[in-house]
Amino acid sequence: MSRGSGWIVQTGEMSATIVDGRKLANEVVLEAMERASTLGRRPGLGVVIVGNDPASQIYVRGKQKRAQEAGFLAEVMELPADAGEARVHEAVEAFNAREDIDGILVQLPLPEDVNTLRIMAAIDPEKDVDGLHTLNAGRLVQGSDGLIPCTPLGCMTIIHSVMPDLTGVHAVVIGNSNIVGKPMASLLLAERATVVQTHIHTRNIEAICREADVLVTAVGKPGLVRGSWIKPGAIVIDVGTTRVPVGDGRYRVRGDVAFEEAVEIAGTITPVPGGVGPMTIACLLSNTVKASARRQGMQRKARVVAD
Ligand code: NAD
Repeated sequence: MSRGSGWIVQTGEMSATIVDGRKLANEVVLEAMERASTLGRRPGLGVVIVGNDPASQIYVRGKQKRAQEAGFLAEVMELPADAGEARVHEAVEAFNAREDIDGILVQLPLPEDVNTLRIMAAIDPEKDVDGLHTLNAGRLVQGSDGLIPCTPLGCMTIIHSVMPDLTGVHAVVIGNSNIVGKPMASLLLAERATVVQTHIHTRNIEAICREADVLVTAVGKPGLVRGSWIKPGAIVIDVGTTRVPVGDGRYRVRGDVAFEEAVEIAGTITPVPGGVGPMTIACLLSNTVKASARRQGMQRKARVVAD
């Protein structure tokens, strides 16, 4: 891509490249498996899920299945919706204490009577594969090596596959949650992009988005981002996943972007489903291998010292 107004060239002939998130995710998973095969024991993932929200149940099953297919140990601890904070805390502590569990993921959102930040703080930071412990969030902001939240990490991998150098690029992130929006902005900033973080109170959001060479949206409002919000040729990453009823008790997952409009204007766009979702799971696996490699290295060192 050559440098016109921003780094995106406006060519006039428009129809975006649609990212195949499943294909890219397979590559990330294969890399993770390769690295896992060099470790002394298989990586272990522990997932805590509270309540029976159907979407969360589907996500957790998907994560467990993918991890098991990759040859990892993957255990799910299910708690009832009324378990209360103390029991969720105990579940995290149980995984913290396990030698064979390298990564812990607490599926969000948690019930209202459970304090999410306190639960995140209870996770051993070295096992915090969703990167939500304060220590890992701080490491990301300060640019030191930690565990990075899976969804923004997956988005970054997609963006890099299209644009390896983000120096000076205008990037806009819609949404400022701890799990997607904020870490996404930190990652883009670390890559030397000029980053604007927008949210529900942002004024003139459409005009701000139209300046973006890279636009990442993580809101959960289907069709929020119209074609008119997009700069011609931009990279558009749609994190939003909203289950919309389509009758007969069935649902369809929709993103934040009005895809049919956006595909005519963007340079590259992620579909929903099949874009960011598979990358999130793939990055969970690579984070688990990373955590496992570090922990197994530390365990080896500890044994040598003890001998
Ligand atoms: P959240 O509810 O914590 O945050 C939503 C954000 O959107 C907030 O920052 C809010 O200020 C902003 N917002 C709301 N309305 C807005 C508007 N009209 N204009 C601009 N900003 C607005 O949600 P989250 O946990 O960050 O998730 C966001 C979306 O991403 C959801 O649809 C979620 O399901 C999805 N998600 C997908 C994946 C995946 O793997 N594909 C992973 C995590 C989250």
